[in-house]
Amino acid sequence: GASERDGGSSGGSEEEPGGSTEQTAGFAEDATIGVALPQKTSENWVLAEQLFIEGLEEAGFDPIVQFANSGVTEQQNQIQAMVEQGAEVIVVGAIDGSQLGTQLEAAVQSGAQVIAYDRLVKNTDAVDMYVAFDNYEVGVLQGEALLQGLEERMGEGPYNIELIAGSPDDANSTPFFEGAMSVLQPKIDDGTLTVVSGQDTFEQVATQGWKAENAQKRMDTILSGTYTETELHGILSPNDTLGRAALTAVAQASKETPVVTGQDSEVESVKSIVAGEQYSTIYKDTRQLVAQTIKEIELLQQGQEPEINDTESYDNGVKVVPSYLLDPQIVTQENAAEVYADDATLGPLTEG
Ligand code: BGC
Repeated sequence: GASERDGGSSGGSEEEPGGSTEQTAGFAEDATIGVALPQKTSENWVLAEQLFIEGLEEAGFDPIVQFANSGVTEQQNQIQAMVEQGAEVIVVGAIDGSQLGTQLEAAVQSGAQVIAYDRLVKNTDAVDMYVAFDNYEVGVLQGEALLQGLEERMGEGPYNIELIAGSPDDANSTPFFEGAMSVLQPKIDDGTLTVVSGQDTFEQVATQGWKAENAQKRMDTILSGTYTETELHGILSPNDTLGRAALTAVAQASKETPVVTGQDSEVESVKSIVAGEQYSTIYKDTRQLVAQTIKEIELLQQGQEPEINDTESYDNGVKVVPSYLLDPQIVTQENAAEVYADDATLGPLTEG
Protein backbone atom coordinates (compact mmCIF):
# COMPACT_ATOMS: atom_id res chain seq x y z
CA GLY A 1 0.00 0.00 0.00
CA ALA A 2 0.97 3.62 -0.33
CA SER A 3 3.15 4.82 2.51
CA GLU A 4 2.09 7.67 4.77
CA ARG A 5 5.11 9.48 3.47
CA ASP A 6 4.17 9.23 -0.17
CA GLY A 7 0.80 10.82 0.39
CA GLY A 8 2.24 14.19 1.23
CA SER A 9 1.88 17.27 -0.90
CA SER A 10 3.61 20.53 -0.15
CA GLY A 11 0.79 22.63 1.24
CA GLY A 12 -0.83 21.32 4.39
CA SER A 13 -3.55 23.81 5.24
CA GLU A 14 -3.62 24.84 8.86
CA GLU A 15 -6.98 26.55 8.73
CA GLU A 16 -9.62 25.38 11.13
CA PRO A 17 -13.22 24.86 10.23
CA GLY A 18 -15.06 27.71 11.88
CA GLY A 19 -12.04 30.03 11.59
CA SER A 20 -11.37 30.41 15.29
CA THR A 21 -9.44 33.47 16.44
CA GLU A 22 -8.18 31.65 19.53
CA GLN A 23 -4.98 30.73 17.71
CA THR A 24 -3.63 34.27 17.92
CA ALA A 25 -5.43 35.29 21.08
CA GLY A 26 -4.03 32.61 23.33
CA PHE A 27 -5.91 31.55 26.45
CA ALA A 28 -5.78 31.71 30.23
CA GLU A 29 -2.56 30.69 31.99
CA ASP A 30 -4.46 28.31 34.25
CA ALA A 31 -6.57 26.82 31.47
CA THR A 32 -7.94 23.29 31.54
CA ILE A 33 -5.95 20.92 29.34
CA GLY A 34 -7.40 17.52 28.43
CA VAL A 35 -5.10 14.58 27.79
CA ALA A 36 -6.86 11.50 26.38
CA LEU A 37 -4.59 8.47 26.59
CA PRO A 38 -5.38 5.07 25.04
CA GLN A 39 -5.02 1.76 26.92
CA LYS A 40 -2.01 0.70 28.98
CA THR A 41 -0.61 -1.45 26.17
CA SER A 42 3.01 -0.54 26.98
CA GLU A 43 5.00 1.17 29.73
CA ASN A 44 5.42 4.41 27.79
CA TRP A 45 1.73 5.23 28.20
CA VAL A 46 1.79 4.71 31.95
CA LEU A 47 4.81 6.97 32.21
CA ALA A 48 3.12 9.59 30.01
CA GLU A 49 0.16 9.83 32.38
CA GLN A 50 2.36 10.72 35.32
CA LEU A 51 4.53 13.12 33.31
CA PHE A 52 1.52 14.97 31.87
CA ILE A 53 -0.07 15.45 35.27
CA GLU A 54 3.17 16.68 36.85
CA GLY A 55 4.34 18.76 33.91
CA LEU A 56 1.04 20.49 33.19
CA GLU A 57 0.51 21.32 36.87
CA GLU A 58 4.00 22.68 37.10
CA ALA A 59 3.32 24.87 34.05
CA GLY A 60 0.26 26.28 35.86
CA PHE A 61 -2.44 24.47 33.90
CA ASP A 62 -5.35 22.43 35.16
CA PRO A 63 -4.92 18.96 33.64
CA ILE A 64 -7.50 16.24 33.04
CA VAL A 65 -5.53 13.11 32.13
CA GLN A 66 -7.48 9.94 31.39
CA PHE A 67 -6.93 6.44 30.09
CA ALA A 68 -9.70 4.73 28.11
CA ASN A 69 -9.14 1.21 29.28
CA SER A 70 -12.45 -0.10 28.04
CA GLY A 71 -11.99 1.12 24.49
CA VAL A 72 -13.02 3.55 21.77
CA THR A 73 -16.44 4.54 23.13
CA GLU A 74 -14.94 5.45 26.49
CA GLN A 75 -12.30 7.58 24.79
CA GLN A 76 -14.95 9.34 22.68
CA ASN A 77 -16.96 10.11 25.83
CA GLN A 78 -13.89 11.35 27.68
CA ILE A 79 -12.99 13.78 24.91
CA GLN A 80 -16.54 15.07 24.78
CA ALA A 81 -16.48 15.61 28.56
CA MET A 82 -13.15 17.43 28.35
CA VAL A 83 -14.67 19.82 25.81
CA GLU A 84 -17.69 20.35 28.05
CA GLN A 85 -15.34 21.17 30.90
CA GLY A 86 -13.84 23.92 28.76
CA ALA A 87 -10.51 22.39 27.80
CA GLU A 88 -8.49 24.81 25.65
CA VAL A 89 -6.27 22.05 24.29
CA ILE A 90 -7.07 18.38 23.78
CA VAL A 91 -4.01 16.15 23.61
CA VAL A 92 -4.97 12.80 22.18
CA GLY A 93 -3.24 9.44 22.01
CA ALA A 94 -5.93 7.66 20.03
CA ILE A 95 -6.91 4.04 20.51
CA ASP A 96 -8.41 4.05 17.02
CA GLY A 97 -7.13 7.03 15.06
CA SER A 98 -10.08 6.92 12.67
CA GLN A 99 -12.89 7.07 15.21
CA LEU A 100 -12.51 10.44 16.89
CA GLY A 101 -13.58 12.78 14.09
CA THR A 102 -16.95 13.72 15.57
CA GLN A 103 -15.57 14.48 19.03
CA LEU A 104 -12.55 16.39 17.78
CA GLU A 105 -14.62 18.44 15.35
CA ALA A 106 -16.83 19.43 18.29
CA ALA A 107 -13.68 20.33 20.23
CA VAL A 108 -12.49 22.63 17.45
CA GLN A 109 -15.95 24.16 17.13
CA SER A 110 -15.82 25.05 20.81
CA GLY A 111 -12.49 26.83 20.25
CA ALA A 112 -10.16 24.13 21.54
CA GLN A 113 -6.97 23.15 19.76
CA VAL A 114 -6.10 19.53 19.14
CA ILE A 115 -2.67 17.94 19.39
CA ALA A 116 -2.24 14.33 18.26
CA TYR A 117 0.22 12.75 20.68
CA ASP A 118 2.40 9.82 19.57
CA ARG A 119 -0.38 8.42 17.36
CA LEU A 120 -1.80 10.29 14.39
CA VAL A 121 -5.51 11.11 14.23
CA LYS A 122 -6.88 10.10 10.83
CA ASN A 123 -9.52 11.24 8.37
CA THR A 124 -10.37 14.55 10.00
CA ASP A 125 -9.47 18.17 9.65
CA ALA A 126 -9.84 18.65 13.39
CA VAL A 127 -6.22 18.16 14.36
CA ASP A 128 -3.85 21.11 14.59
CA MET A 129 -0.59 19.30 14.97
CA TYR A 130 1.17 16.03 15.66
CA VAL A 131 3.95 15.47 18.20
CA ALA A 132 5.69 12.11 17.97
CA PHE A 133 8.83 10.14 17.43
CA ASP A 134 9.06 9.48 13.70
CA ASN A 135 7.17 6.19 13.37
CA TYR A 136 8.34 5.34 9.87
CA GLU A 137 11.93 5.82 11.04
CA VAL A 138 11.22 3.48 13.98
CA GLY A 139 10.26 0.82 11.43
CA VAL A 140 13.36 1.43 9.32
CA LEU A 141 15.56 1.06 12.41
CA GLN A 142 13.79 -2.19 13.34
CA GLY A 143 14.29 -3.64 9.85
CA GLU A 144 17.96 -2.68 9.89
CA ALA A 145 18.44 -4.14 13.38
CA LEU A 146 16.89 -7.44 12.31
CA LEU A 147 19.32 -7.73 9.38
CA GLN A 148 22.28 -6.70 11.50
CA GLY A 149 21.34 -9.16 14.26
CA LEU A 150 20.98 -12.01 11.78
CA GLU A 151 24.45 -11.39 10.40
CA GLU A 152 26.00 -11.04 13.85
CA ARG A 153 24.36 -14.02 15.52
CA MET A 154 23.54 -16.46 12.75
CA GLY A 155 26.45 -16.05 10.39
CA GLU A 156 25.83 -16.07 6.69
CA GLY A 157 22.28 -16.32 5.30
CA PRO A 158 19.84 -17.10 3.91
CA TYR A 159 17.64 -16.70 6.95
CA ASN A 160 14.14 -17.78 7.95
CA ILE A 161 12.08 -15.04 9.51
CA GLU A 162 8.56 -14.22 10.71
CA LEU A 163 6.84 -10.86 10.89
CA ILE A 164 4.66 -9.29 13.58
CA ALA A 165 2.87 -5.95 13.27
CA GLY A 166 0.96 -3.82 15.78
CA SER A 167 -2.76 -3.28 16.25
CA PRO A 168 -4.60 -2.42 13.01
CA ASP A 169 -6.62 0.39 14.66
CA ASP A 170 -3.45 2.22 15.81
CA ALA A 171 -2.34 4.67 13.12
CA ASN A 172 1.29 3.97 14.04
CA SER A 173 1.19 0.31 13.16
CA THR A 174 1.27 0.90 9.40
CA PRO A 175 4.27 3.26 9.32
CA PHE A 176 6.14 0.93 11.72
CA PHE A 177 5.50 -2.00 9.36
CA GLU A 178 6.10 -0.09 6.14
CA GLY A 179 9.33 1.40 7.47
CA ALA A 180 10.60 -2.07 8.38
CA MET A 181 9.47 -3.59 5.08
CA SER A 182 11.26 -0.85 3.14
CA VAL A 183 14.43 -2.50 4.45
CA LEU A 184 13.32 -6.15 4.49
CA GLN A 185 11.33 -6.47 1.24
CA PRO A 186 14.38 -6.15 -1.05
CA LYS A 187 16.07 -8.89 1.01
CA ILE A 188 12.98 -11.09 0.69
CA ASP A 189 12.96 -10.44 -3.05
CA ASP A 190 16.63 -11.39 -3.47
CA GLY A 191 16.26 -14.58 -1.41
CA THR A 192 18.32 -13.50 1.63
CA LEU A 193 15.19 -13.69 3.80
CA THR A 194 12.31 -16.15 3.65
CA VAL A 195 9.06 -15.70 5.55
CA VAL A 196 8.48 -19.42 5.92
CA SER A 197 4.83 -19.18 7.03
CA GLY A 198 4.07 -17.10 3.95
CA GLN A 199 2.33 -14.53 6.18
CA ASP A 200 3.80 -11.28 4.95
CA THR A 201 1.03 -8.72 4.52
CA PHE A 202 0.10 -6.24 7.24
CA GLU A 203 -3.35 -7.79 7.59
CA GLN A 204 -1.87 -11.25 8.08
CA VAL A 205 0.65 -10.23 10.71
CA ALA A 206 -1.20 -7.50 12.68
CA THR A 207 -1.84 -8.02 16.41
CA GLN A 208 -5.28 -6.90 17.58
CA GLY A 209 -5.12 -4.56 20.56
CA TRP A 210 -1.31 -4.87 20.79
CA LYS A 211 -2.04 -7.88 23.02
CA ALA A 212 0.84 -10.19 23.90
CA GLU A 213 -1.45 -13.22 24.04
CA ASN A 214 -2.54 -12.64 20.42
CA ALA A 215 1.02 -12.47 19.13
CA GLN A 216 2.05 -15.45 21.22
CA LYS A 217 -0.85 -17.56 19.95
CA ARG A 218 -0.03 -16.72 16.35
CA MET A 219 3.64 -17.61 16.88
CA ASP A 220 2.68 -20.88 18.65
CA THR A 221 0.64 -21.89 15.62
CA ILE A 222 3.35 -20.93 13.16
CA LEU A 223 6.06 -22.71 15.15
CA SER A 224 4.14 -25.95 15.50
CA GLY A 225 2.87 -25.88 11.94
CA THR A 226 5.84 -24.64 9.97
CA TYR A 227 9.04 -24.98 11.98
CA THR A 228 9.08 -28.62 13.05
CA GLU A 229 12.02 -29.40 10.76
CA THR A 230 13.24 -25.87 10.12
CA GLU A 231 15.10 -23.25 12.14
CA LEU A 232 13.58 -19.83 12.76
CA HIS A 233 16.35 -17.22 12.70
CA GLY A 234 14.61 -13.92 13.23
CA ILE A 235 11.35 -12.22 14.17
CA LEU A 236 10.42 -8.66 13.32
CA SER A 237 8.47 -7.41 16.33
CA PRO A 238 7.06 -3.86 16.42
CA ASN A 239 7.42 -3.44 20.18
CA ASP A 240 8.88 -4.99 23.32
CA THR A 241 5.65 -6.44 24.69
CA LEU A 242 5.09 -8.43 21.50
CA GLY A 243 8.79 -9.24 21.17
CA ARG A 244 8.80 -10.88 24.62
CA ALA A 245 5.63 -12.77 23.68
CA ALA A 246 7.43 -14.10 20.59
CA LEU A 247 10.44 -15.10 22.68
CA THR A 248 8.14 -16.95 25.08
CA ALA A 249 6.52 -18.85 22.20
CA VAL A 250 9.94 -19.82 20.85
CA ALA A 251 11.15 -20.98 24.28
CA GLN A 252 8.00 -23.07 24.78
CA ALA A 253 8.60 -24.70 21.40
CA SER A 254 12.15 -25.49 22.58
CA LYS A 255 13.68 -23.64 19.67
CA GLU A 256 16.94 -21.71 19.69
CA THR A 257 16.56 -18.01 20.46
CA PRO A 258 16.08 -16.09 17.22
CA VAL A 259 16.97 -12.45 16.63
CA VAL A 260 13.98 -10.46 17.91
CA THR A 261 13.45 -6.72 17.55
CA GLY A 262 11.36 -4.45 19.75
CA GLN A 263 10.48 -0.90 20.73
CA ASP A 264 9.86 1.18 23.88
CA SER A 265 12.83 0.22 26.07
CA GLU A 266 10.63 -1.58 28.56
CA VAL A 267 12.45 -2.69 31.70
CA GLU A 268 12.07 -6.45 31.04
CA SER A 269 13.28 -6.07 27.48
CA VAL A 270 16.28 -3.96 28.42
CA LYS A 271 17.25 -6.68 30.89
CA SER A 272 16.78 -9.28 28.16
CA ILE A 273 18.96 -7.30 25.72
CA VAL A 274 21.70 -6.90 28.32
CA ALA A 275 21.49 -10.68 28.94
CA GLY A 276 21.88 -11.37 25.20
CA GLU A 277 18.35 -12.61 24.50
CA GLN A 278 16.16 -9.99 22.80
CA TYR A 279 18.33 -8.37 20.14
CA SER A 280 17.15 -4.77 19.94
CA THR A 281 14.70 -2.18 21.12
CA ILE A 282 14.04 1.47 20.34
CA TYR A 283 14.48 4.32 22.78
CA LYS A 284 11.74 6.93 22.57
CA ASP A 285 12.27 8.98 25.70
CA THR A 286 8.75 9.67 26.96
CA ARG A 287 10.06 12.55 29.08
CA GLN A 288 11.19 14.28 25.90
CA LEU A 289 7.90 13.66 24.08
CA VAL A 290 5.75 14.94 26.93
CA ALA A 291 8.04 17.95 27.47
CA GLN A 292 7.77 18.89 23.78
CA THR A 293 3.97 18.58 23.93
CA ILE A 294 3.78 20.82 26.99
CA LYS A 295 6.05 23.32 25.26
CA GLU A 296 3.60 23.40 22.33
CA ILE A 297 0.71 23.99 24.74
CA GLU A 298 2.58 26.89 26.33
CA LEU A 299 3.16 28.45 22.91
CA LEU A 300 -0.54 28.14 22.10
CA GLN A 301 -1.40 29.62 25.50
CA GLN A 302 0.71 32.67 24.63
CA GLY A 303 -0.99 32.96 21.25
CA GLN A 304 2.15 32.02 19.38
CA GLU A 305 2.67 29.60 16.53
CA PRO A 306 3.48 26.05 17.58
CA GLU A 307 6.91 24.62 16.89
CA ILE A 308 6.83 22.52 13.70
CA ASN A 309 9.75 20.70 12.04
CA ASP A 310 7.94 18.58 9.46
CA THR A 311 5.16 19.52 7.06
CA GLU A 312 5.13 16.60 4.66
CA SER A 313 5.46 13.20 6.29
CA TYR A 314 2.17 12.55 8.07
CA ASP A 315 -0.88 12.70 5.82
CA ASN A 316 -3.99 11.74 7.78
CA GLY A 317 -6.17 11.18 4.73
CA VAL A 318 -7.64 14.70 4.82
CA LYS A 319 -4.56 16.83 5.28
CA VAL A 320 -0.86 16.67 5.95
CA VAL A 321 -0.71 17.30 9.67
CA PRO A 322 2.05 19.77 10.66
CA SER A 323 4.34 17.81 12.94
CA TYR A 324 7.10 18.03 15.45
CA LEU A 325 9.02 14.79 15.06
CA LEU A 326 11.67 13.52 17.44
CA ASP A 327 14.38 11.03 16.50
CA PRO A 328 14.03 7.46 17.78
CA GLN A 329 17.23 5.63 18.70
CA ILE A 330 18.07 1.99 18.10
CA VAL A 331 19.40 0.10 21.12
CA THR A 332 21.31 -3.19 21.16
CA GLN A 333 23.52 -4.82 23.77
CA GLU A 334 26.42 -2.91 22.30
CA ASN A 335 25.16 0.65 22.85
CA ALA A 336 22.62 0.21 25.69
CA ALA A 337 24.82 1.72 28.41
CA GLU A 338 25.56 4.74 26.27
CA VAL A 339 21.95 5.37 25.17
CA TYR A 340 20.49 4.99 28.67
CA ALA A 341 23.26 6.89 30.46
CA ASP A 342 20.89 9.73 31.43
CA ASP A 343 17.90 7.55 32.25
CA ALA A 344 17.68 6.89 35.98
CA THR A 345 15.54 3.76 35.52
CA LEU A 346 17.24 2.14 32.52
CA GLY A 347 20.85 3.27 32.97
CA PRO A 348 21.50 1.14 36.08
CA LEU A 349 20.21 -1.99 34.25
CA THR A 350 23.15 -1.80 31.88
CA GLU A 351 25.82 -1.79 34.59
CA GLY A 352 27.92 -4.72 35.70
C1 BGC B 1 3.41 3.45 20.39
C2 BGC B 1 4.40 2.38 20.73
C3 BGC B 1 3.74 1.31 21.60
C4 BGC B 1 2.40 0.87 21.06
C5 BGC B 1 1.67 -0.04 21.99
C6 BGC B 1 2.21 2.79 19.78
O1 BGC B 1 1.30 3.69 19.29
O2 BGC B 1 3.99 4.37 19.49
O3 BGC B 1 5.49 2.96 21.39
O4 BGC B 1 4.57 0.20 21.68
O5 BGC B 1 1.63 1.97 20.78
O6 BGC B 1 1.38 0.59 23.20
